[in-house]
Amino acid sequence: MIGAALRQLLDEEQLREGVGRLAEEINGHYQGRPLTIIGVLTGSVVLLADLIRLLDMPLKVGLVQATSYRGATTPGELELNLDLLPDIAGRQVLIVDDIFDTGHTLAALVEKFMALGPAQLRSAVLLRKAGRVEVPLQPDHVGFEIPNEFVVGYGLDYADLYRNLPHVAALDPEDLSPQHGQKQSAAASGENGS
Ligand code: 5GP
Ligand code: MG
Repeated sequence: MIGAALRQLLDEEQLREGVGRLAEEINGHYQGRPLTIIGVLTGSVVLLADLIRLLDMPLKVGLVQATSYRGATTPGELELNLDLLPDIAGRQVLIVDDIFDTGHTLAALVEKFMALGPAQLRSAVLLRKAGRVEVPLQPDHVGFEIPNEFVVGYGLDYADLYRNLPHVAALDPEDLSPQHGQKQSAAASGENGS
């Protein structure tokens, strides 16, 4: 897949500005009150590293992993691993993910987390895809609206590659190979421990 056609959508400067905007909104909301941020592995790690350094409150950081196994046309089966989740009871909690696509990942996390009794639960994503939402829920903070294309870079992968690109790029559909069957088509629609 190295050598696949990538079209840059957001350059490093735009990403820096977008993450700065997110941080301002989040700082504005919490006003210095303690916060627990929960990053969704693996795609959120780059955002998480950049974002938390701009936040100005007593901050704890935890992680969960969300993996969806999804065919091109079939609905996804989502697997959540909460082993690394710290105690969130009574805490103000912010879920941070790379991208909001259909919304099923965030909806499932919100349901799980609410059962653990946080004082408040909100969410932030770097990217939101236009016209894809399938749940009655939206993230509280969104860095960028993007068109409905498969994107990689800045933490986002295709088949576990490209996470280290410093910018966000769209991968052309002909490069989303169906050859590995479900694993690949799942990645194409947003799979992968991402
Ligand atoms: P949702 O559950 O909202 O449909 O999908 C959210 C998850 O799917 C994201 O956390 C991300 O892991 C993955 N995803 C959705 N769209 C894309 C995309 O365009 N590129 C990549 N790399 N992952 C995506
Ligand atoms: Mg993900």
